[in-house]
Amino acid sequence: MIKAKKKFGQNFLIDNQIIKSILDEIKFSERNKYLEIGPGMGALTSELQKKTKKLDLVEIDPDMINVLRTKLNSNTQLFEGDVLGFSDEFFEKYNVVLGNLPYYIATEIIFRFVPIKNVDTLYFMLQKEVADRLVAKIGTKENSILTNLLGFNFRTEKCFDIKPESFDPAPKVTSSFIKLTRHKDYENEITYVDFKRIIKESFKFKRKNLKNNLKNILNLNDFENLEILPTKRAEDLSIEDFIKITKYLISNA
Ligand code: SAH
Repeated sequence: MIKAKKKFGQNFLIDNQIIKSILDEIKFSERNKYLEIGPGMGALTSELQKKTKKLDLVEIDPDMINVLRTKLNSNTQLFEGDVLGFSDEFFEKYNVVLGNLPYYIATEIIFRFVPIKNVDTLYFMLQKEVADRLVAKIGTKENSILTNLLGFNFRTEKCFDIKPESFDPAPKVTSSFIKLTRHKDYENEITYVDFKRIIKESFKFKRKNLKNNLKNILNLNDFENLEILPTKRAEDLSIEDFIKITKYLISNA
């Protein structure tokens, strides 16, 4: 029996009901090329192989690689290495990316796919605390930098939560399964780089309002022109509000 490695964030899925629920959420099409990140010993992989024409895998742990090799069919290629070390060109070959992510780098992995335009749908399992921030609604305390940066390019949705006992070893926290669908709503409005700068400034000090966080960029007159209350906090603004602010700053620069 192989021991789970903490350093690779290994928590293996052992709950068949959850595996079934995950498969129910995924849209399968023969035209799609799927990439699974961190397949581990293949809890999801075998089932995914049955439903896809092309499924490739990226796994870092040589012990897992050895187990996986015995399970693969000819539609699947296995790539060994750190997923964060692969190139844009590598990822551009796929349009659906999924996986039960290693939680220690879940956020980095998700944001790695923001610039990979060919990837239009992502399904990930990660810790609930982070998932709640990624899918947060306006006006809640979970609405944060991550929510807005991801929302600029993706529609985000939580499918369900998963209790620790569904894994071996059981993680300390509850997990969530989320779905991200790429949209192009803001593509012609402003660049991601400009948007990101305003988001970071607006959320700089969590307890401060917009007037304070943006005091070097916007004065009270600007807020009036924008029709945004300066006493609001960043968490109360929509992505459209931030786009409006960004556009205003660009045109008044
Ligand atoms: N999908 C499996 C395993 C999930 S645990 C299951 O649900 O049972 C997370 C997996 O990600 C492990 O297999 C771990 O070895 C792998 N992993 C950890 N860090 C990684 C990295 N940087 N790049 C690729 N895979 C990684």
